[in-house]
Formats: sequence, structure tokens, C-alpha cells
Amino acid sequence: MDFLKEKLPEKIAHKLSEVESIKEILISEAISLHKKYTISIQESEHLQKIAAEVVIGDRIKDALGIEDCLRLRTGCAQIDDLTRGGFRFKMINEVYGEAGVGKTQLCLQLAVAVQMPPISGAAFYVCTDKSFPANRLLELSLSVPSAFGLSGDESLMDKVFVEHSMDFIALRRLLFVKLPKLLENVRISLVVIDSIAAIFRSEDIKYLERSKEIDDICRQLNHLARTHNLVVVCVNQVTDDPNSDTSGPSLGNAWANYVVCRFLIERDWTNGIRRFRVVNAPYLKPDACRFIITQSGLH
Ligand code: ATP
Ligand code: MG
Repeated sequence: MDFLKEKLPEKIAHKLSEVESIKEILISEAISLHKKYTISIQESEHLQKIAAEVVIGDRIKDALGIEDCLRLRTGCAQIDDLTRGGFRFKMINEVYGEAGVGKTQLCLQLAVAVQMPPISGAAFYVCTDKSFPANRLLELSLSVPSAFGLSGDESLMDKVFVEHSMDFIALRRLLFVKLPKLLENVRISLVVIDSIAAIFRSEDIKYLERSKEIDDICRQLNHLARTHNLVVVCVNQVTDDPNSDTSGPSLGNAWANYVVCRFLIERDWTNGIRRFRVVNAPYLKPDACRFIITQSGLH
């Protein structure tokens, strides 16, 4: 029990000499421990939590792949701290926010960051704007590696495979034909869709039709993310809800059902300070951090 003693406050630790076994701590109700060892219910629960962590914590974490899994760091220390190491693989991450808050800046930075060790992968970047900000990617290719202790190199641009897509049909072709083919030859580790809202923005699409299209795209994204170990980041825009006078991510539930991690970027227009907010992520508490954007990227 000594290794358990070290992790407990004195008041609980000295009761351990009376405890029969760790098994007893783990299988008893907190109230039984409270009565038997004259410690409070809260102390009993704390004792159980620490005992569980000591005995099975690491194995559970390994099995779930939660704590020890590799993340895609952004290179912005505040965002990486907040997200406990960056963006998760094998699932759809969403970054949403108003125009000009820095969504594209973050994605461009990720396209460089993904090439840094230990991931050392390439990026597939779907751009829905007419022109891709290649000059900005060049700037970031030269500056972002310093956050990883490396020097910048314009050749990092070669590992960002940019594709333009303006509508669902083009995106479908990219995700069902072009990307799978590319994945046979290139180790892509990041897929960015900037933005998913632009793909489905057309007023002409009927609600049901759009839901079906979103369903198709998301299933394929999830399939590719899982089978090829990809980080998928989809940029989304903000829509006002006339009923509640609030705003939220576009595309409604048909889309939201597929998003595992939802992040919001906000900007204080008076001083340029941005905020990266965890809105919803199963392994993170809702919280936010501040960052700025300079010529060398997000800091
Ligand atoms: P939209 O929804 O319109 O696509 P967005 O959220 O993608 O918007 P970004 O293009 O990522 O917005 O961010 C643009 C902002 O990033 C600029 O307004 C500027 O504040 C900042 N920015 C871009 N490049 C630089 C730079 N070289 N130095 C400093 N800030 C920059
Ligand atoms: Mg943008």
C-alpha cells in the first residue's frame, strides 16, 4: 500500500494500515468505507479514485487510447496546452467562427505543423475559395517549424496538396476518388476542408437532399480518417438563429452529429486578440485560451 500512501493526504493515508486490500477499496461502496474507516464520503471517493488510478488507470487509458494517443500540435503553445497536445486523429474536428477570426490561418499552420516530427505527414487541403493563400502558406512554412525546434523550409509547401472544390459534387469526387488514390502513394496525415459550410451553402439544395449529402461526405471522411489515421479539420461558418437571437455553427444537426470535437475562434476587434474555445470535445473541459496572429503564425 505504500505507493498508494504517497498519493493521499495524511488523514486518509494513515487509515490505510487498517484497510485489508486495494481490492476492498475498489469494490466497496464509498459509504461503507466512510463508516468502516471513519473518513468522510468525499475522502472515501477520493481514496477510490486514487486507488483506481494507481491500479488500473494506465491500462484503461491505454485501452481507450485517450491519454497517450498522438495529437497534431499546432505549434501555438496556448492552443496546444488547452487541447492537451493538439488535434485528435481518426475523427472529425470542426473549427468555426466569424469571417476573419483566423480559421484559415490555423488550418494553414496545421498543414505545416503536420510535417514536423513525430508525425512527419503530408496535408490534403480542400479550398472552397477561388484562390488559395499560397503566399501565406510560404510565410508559415518558413516560420512555423521554429515552434518545433526546426528551421523553416519552403519545400514544406510541396507536401500540402491543395484542391479546389466549390460544391458537393466536386468534394465528393475528391473524397471518394482522388484522396483515396493519393493515400496509396503519399502518407497524408491531415485533411482540411476550408470550408464545409461553403460546400453546402447553396440556397437551392433542399433540406433532405442536403442532409443526405452531408451524411455521404461525413461517412467517407470518418472512414478515411480511421483507416488511414488522419486528422480531419473542417472549417465552418456561423449562422444566426432568428428564434433565439444567438448564433452558432452552420449546417445544423445533420452536420453536428458527425462532429466529435467542436472548437470556436473569436476575435476582439478592438485589439486583435483571438480566443480559441473548446465548445465540445469528449476529452476536454469547455475552456478557452487567448492567442494572436502575427506574420510568423499563431502564438
Ligand atoms: P473567413 O471565414 O472569411 O475565411 P477566416 O476565419 O478564415 O475568415 P483568416 O483568413 O484565417 O480568417 O484570418 C485572416 C486574418 O488573419 C486577417 O484579418 C489578419 O488579422 C490575420 N493575418 C493574416 N495574415 C497575417 C499576417 N501575415 N500577419 C498578421 N496577421 C495576419
Ligand atoms: Mg478562411
